[in-house]
Amino acid sequence: SGDAASPEEEVIEAALRPKQLDDFIGQDRVREQLSLVLHSALRRGRTPDHVLLSGGPGLGKTTLAMIIAAELGRPLRISSGPAIERAGDLAAILSTLSEGEVLFLDEIHRMARPAEEMLYMAMEDFRVDVVVGKGPGATAIPLDIAPFTLVGATTRAGMLPGPLRDRFGFVAHMDFYGPAELEVIVQRSARLLDVRIDDDAAAEVAGRSRGTPRIANRLLRRVRDFAEVRTGGEVTRDSARAALKLYEVDERGLDRLDRAVLGSLLRKFGGGPVGLSTLAVSVGEEPETVEVVAEPFLVRQGLLARTPRGRIATPAAWAHLGLTAPPTAPL
Ligand code: ADP
Repeated sequence: SGDAASPEEEVIEAALRPKQLDDFIGQDRVREQLSLVLHSALRRGRTPDHVLLSGGPGLGKTTLAMIIAAELGRPLRISSGPAIERAGDLAAILSTLSEGEVLFLDEIHRMARPAEEMLYMAMEDFRVDVVVGKGPGATAIPLDIAPFTLVGATTRAGMLPGPLRDRFGFVAHMDFYGPAELEVIVQRSARLLDVRIDDDAAAEVAGRSRGTPRIANRLLRRVRDFAEVRTGGEVTRDSARAALKLYEVDERGLDRLDRAVLGSLLRKFGGGPVGLSTLAVSVGEEPETVEVVAEPFLVRQGLLARTPRGRIATPAAWAHLGLTAPPTAPL
């Protein structure tokens, strides 16, 4: 998705990932439900139900998949929907899984159709039909696979076909994190990265992180850089504010993309309603990026609303960008 981690960031993220359910901060309900699913399966000596994690980028889906494998004491195989272009790609993965292995499929809503159908049977019966040959001579050879646990992740649960969604025994919806949870995450990451940060500064970073741990960790590194070079090293509220200003993250946590989307909606479309793809083109982004990365946060902030006729700006959006709503704007 549009807010994916860069390769360098992935190395840092790996170091910051909580390794056990108990270290995973926030998402209390999901954590408790998941803990029950895993521990009851362990008690019965069975592989747990397949798990679907839905939620925006950077909310901890990959982290939870790793934790699931760790809690079960099983290996983890990682792939993603876009990497599975043909049914054969999936068959190659499934046929080499070991007993009880956890298979993490990120962006599962983007898997190719024939692979998706193969996955249905694999999830339900731990069996796949491998088609050999082409045309009238083609034959389907049934192949048993080891019982495994699928952990699917999607930024758009609504995009999943019903038959696929129904095959997950447990569906977890991950929502934005609250400021207090993010503050704990910032403080934990600061400890792991050896960054000195005072409580006010941690709160400042948390409050501008768009409810998202990945962004909290990203902003923490930026305020650290700033403090190292410009001030004595310890991150204080003033140095954090100055750094965030430099990186164009405003007081509500809107970043450049958020403000571009909102600004375009206001300036070019008079506050809307405007369709998603038109809005996306106007800021030079893919519709999916605007929909998945920017909009949920803007909606949550009460700055943008999705209506059947298109996207509209709220009065708060005009105020936030310091613009005056025209008299005809939908209020
Ligand atoms: P996703 O797969 O949903 O895009 P990740 O699992 O890759 O998100 O998480 C992004 C970063 O945020 C990781 O570095 C991870 O350590 C951190 N993170 C996510 N959720 C939490 C959490 N609940 N507690 C602490 N850190 C978290």
